[in-house]
Amino acid sequence: MLPPTRTPKARKRKRRSHHALRAAHTTMCPNCGSDKLPHAACSNCGYVRPGLTIKLSKED
Ligand SMILES: [Zn+2]
Repeated sequence: MLPPTRTPKARKRKRRSHHALRAAHTTMCPNCGSDKLPHAACSNCGYVRPGLTIKLSKED
């Protein structure tokens, strides 16, 4: 077995140039105007679609 080859700083940094995280994409809730994840119930008011709103449990 050969000894492991040292990875140069430049190669390591080039590889990690694709590792950055991006912020989660959000849409505006049409009911209350706060940011919400698309295709999900609003975490602020529970709005899903016209005629459907889920009850949110109060945790405070
Ligand atoms: Zn909302």
